[in-house]
Amino acid sequence: MSRIAYVNGRYVPHQDAAVHIEDRGYQFADGVYEVVAVADSRLVDAGPHLDRLDRSLRELSMKSPMSRAALMVVIREMVRRNKVRNGIVYMQVSRGVAPRDHAFPPDHVKPALVMTAKSVPPAKVAAGVGQGVRVVTTADIRWQRCDIKTVALLPNCLAKQEAKTAEAFEAWQVDGEGFVTEGSSTNAWIVDADGNLVTRHLGEDILPGITRKTIIDLANRKDIAIHERPFTVAEAQEAKEAFITSATSFVTPVIQIDDRTVGNGHPGSVASELRALYRQYIDEECGDPVH
Ligand code: PMP
Repeated sequence: MSRIAYVNGRYVPHQDAAVHIEDRGYQFADGVYEVVAVADSRLVDAGPHLDRLDRSLRELSMKSPMSRAALMVVIREMVRRNKVRNGIVYMQVSRGVAPRDHAFPPDHVKPALVMTAKSVPPAKVAAGVGQGVRVVTTADIRWQRCDIKTVALLPNCLAKQEAKTAEAFEAWQVDGEGFVTEGSSTNAWIVDADGNLVTRHLGEDILPGITRKTIIDLANRKDIAIHERPFTVAEAQEAKEAFITSATSFVTPVIQIDDRTVGNGHPGSVASELRALYRQYIDEECGDPVH
């Protein structure tokens, strides 16, 4: 099937989709993005993702490319045109196309919007869920506004490549004091000896994950205690359970951190329960299927 991309107002064949060489996203990583999962044709948490996109734009004094309603029309159209039942919609907004100059372009320059959609087989989303995945740790070398979802992902790419080279699924980034910040593209969690969920508090050093927020809400409903605080690599290695969350991996159990096995080396019951609750949440609370 031929894929379709959306580029600045046009639906075009994916293989022909291109942006201008002076797009500021390309030249300066002067852009922000969002990824919305599609599960059984439902958009997962589209509202909160678009809220976060608005916030990222605001924090960088960028204009919105179109209204929320118009953006939802394009997202749905992309899901339909690409016949996505399970997969993702990727959207990226840059500050636009202008002659190369570090300072912002004049006001009349419009932000650029591109969108892609792709199918990801459910089996791939669930890859590693059965057995759990391994993570490695690496120094967090990113900037001081990791709460903004910018396309400046080079440190994240380096971290993910370290994981790949080590045949691990993810790299957990570690701050100067030895505390885990987050994964290269996921939030990091542990379950402590008393069964409390622990994940780093929000701040400028991590992305406020949408999946993180939904999992907190679902855990609250089940009266599972949550402590939003930093944890060290050693604490994570000795934890009962560990797992990661993101729009693309949902809830994925972690069974090894560097060379240490977590728990009994198998996915833990809390992670498994949260994954099931999240699945149920998608089916029951994420609106009607797009197609
Ligand atoms: N942290 C980082 C650095 C990420 O790139 C992502 C994925 N966008 C996440 C956390 C998870 O966020 P979400 O649950 O919104 O996908």
